Amino acid sequence: MNAEIIAVGSELLLGQIVNTNARFLSQQLAGLGIDVYYHTVVGDNPDRLKSAIKIAESRSKIIIFTGGLGPTKDDLTKETIARHIGTELVMNNEALETIEQYFKRTNRVMTENNRKQALILEGSLVLPNDHGMAPGMVLKSGGHIYMLLPGPPKEMEPMFLNYGSKELALLTGAKEQIVSRVLRFFGIGEAALETEIMDIIDEQKNPTVAPLAGEGDVTLRLTAKHRDEMKAQAMLDEVEAKIRQRVGQYIYGYENTTLFVELANVLKERKWTITSAESLTGGLFQQEITSISGASSIFKGGIVCYSNEIKQDLVQVKQETLETYGSVSEECARELAENVMKIFGTDIGISFTGVAGPDELEGKPVGTIFIGIALKGRPSIVERIKLSGSRGANRNRAVRYGCYFLLKYLRELQDAI
Ligand code: ATP
Ligand code: MG
Repeated sequence: MNAEIIAVGSELLLGQIVNTNARFLSQQLAGLGIDVYYHTVVGDNPDRLKSAIKIAESRSKIIIFTGGLGPTKDDLTKETIARHIGTELVMNNEALETIEQYFKRTNRVMTENNRKQALILEGSLVLPNDHGMAPGMVLKSGGHIYMLLPGPPKEMEPMFLNYGSKELALLTGAKEQIVSRVLRFFGIGEAALETEIMDIIDEQKNPTVAPLAGEGDVTLRLTAKHRDEMKAQAMLDEVEAKIRQRVGQYIYGYENTTLFVELANVLKERKWTITSAESLTGGLFQQEITSISGASSIFKGGIVCYSNEIKQDLVQVKQETLETYGSVSEECARELAENVMKIFGTDIGISFTGVAGPDELEGKPVGTIFIGIALKGRPSIVERIKLSGSRGANRNRAVRYGCYFLLKYLRELQDAI
């Protein structure tokens, strides 16, 4: 079985971007036992694309395209392939729905040309796009396998790993099943994680363990190959258990989840409600929690208590606490969390107080942050962290740390029950 990769895009020919898609796909195809004999790069031009397709058909069984699936006029990959092999483009309702949802969610007006992204080659199988709008697709036609993938690597790579590779394995009769799993980490840096599990990464050939780049979070992708999918899953379980033994406390979820989605799920499950008193973060926690659908069942409201006056008058922090320890202190964070929980009558209260920067406060250095967590009928906890980013980064990071500490606390509690 051999393959050719056709990267479509004039930016590639102009030297504006490097063809990293071909490198990624070649590595992946090698892993599948598919030989890649040719890489082709062609501009956004239908005639030249058509001649590249013809040449590829004359020498390769599998032809993988990247780029040109977007909404604009110069995106013409599928149109050109359709015309060349004499097939129609048909609307895929699921893909259209995804695109419409995206515009609704981001409150933007959808222009007509965006519908074009939901057109697929008739008879093809859709590869969902979990990180963008344009779906990919695979089509078997006239003795060839055509796979169309989007240009942006952050869309193309997960699409290939999660969906494309499986289809290729099936279509080419490759005997092995490939299953993969993404572990998401918080509270540990990429370098530290790699150091902790270096030997596991190095010794593993199957399953493989590798960091996934460009995800914002620190992540690991575990990939196993076996004839039997259940067996492949069991192999993943085994290596995951090994990783958990070392760094399990930093793992907060799987695949595409976020800290806030995980927290919301735990709260919904337990029917717990939450509120926050936010000084440092000025409502960022509330913004995050309310951006989750169904937030009304877990969140009633919260208080932004930026000044000491409001901390005292509205959240009833003792004057003595502020005078003795200051507003950036363990004591203040604890009172904020406990009091806001009582005021709102919720099961949980969380608080954020700290020095965002650029100047120090109350003699405490920039980046000093206290996060208070109060839980009805349980001892409160206060976590102290020290961040070293910019003002904005520190505030955003503090909110994610708060979410992480709370999630960890609740899960430990759940395990104990
Ligand atoms: P979009 O919906 O973003 O327009 P698309 O599928 O139409 O996606 P292109 O318009 O061809 O893809 O490319 C979009 C971007 O993806 C490029 O500007 C570039 O950043 C990246 N890209 C495209 N092809 C490649 C490639 N072969 N290697 C690396 N990056 C690429
Ligand atoms: Mg495009």
